[in-house]
Amino acid sequence: MFGKGLLKGLSVTWNFLWGKAITEEYPERRPRLPSYSRGFLQLDKEKCIACGLCATSCPNNVIHIETVKDEQNKRQLKAYRITVGRCIYCGLCVESCPKGALYWVPDFERACYRHEDTEVDLLAAEEVKGGA
Ligand code: SF4
Ligand code: SF4
Repeated sequence: MFGKGLLKGLSVTWNFLWGKAITEEYPERRPRLPSYSRGFLQLDKEKCIACGLCATSCPNNVIHIETVKDEQNKRQLKAYRITVGRCIYCGLCVESCPKGALYWVPDFERACYRHEDTEVDLLAAEEVKGGA
């Protein structure tokens, strides 16, 4: 009985030492995530028509849009804020956008020290194109 347990323990050690690594040395080695990963939302400012459908479809009230009317009485985006901490990554906002202006990028590193930094204005942020 003792011998059987010892052998089992040795096999676990052997597999740990020589088996395939199942963890990654993050952040020294950063993973290359596939382009379809839901890392973070991005907005294509040129495509967005400020309709607000994405904000309406969000179940967690994450998206807050401010608009202004231009000289042709057309709605223009003034701010596009998302409260990252409340997002559940369901993707309903992306699916509801009629212009394909909202999309996912694999950029997942959003850790921050201050609570107010969890609110991001996608209109002010530099656009990141999807793809890994
Ligand atoms: S992914 Fe879901 S929870 Fe997050 S902003 Fe879009 S609709 Fe809201
Ligand atoms: S649904 Fe699309 S076009 Fe409409 S406000 Fe949201 S991102 Fe812009």
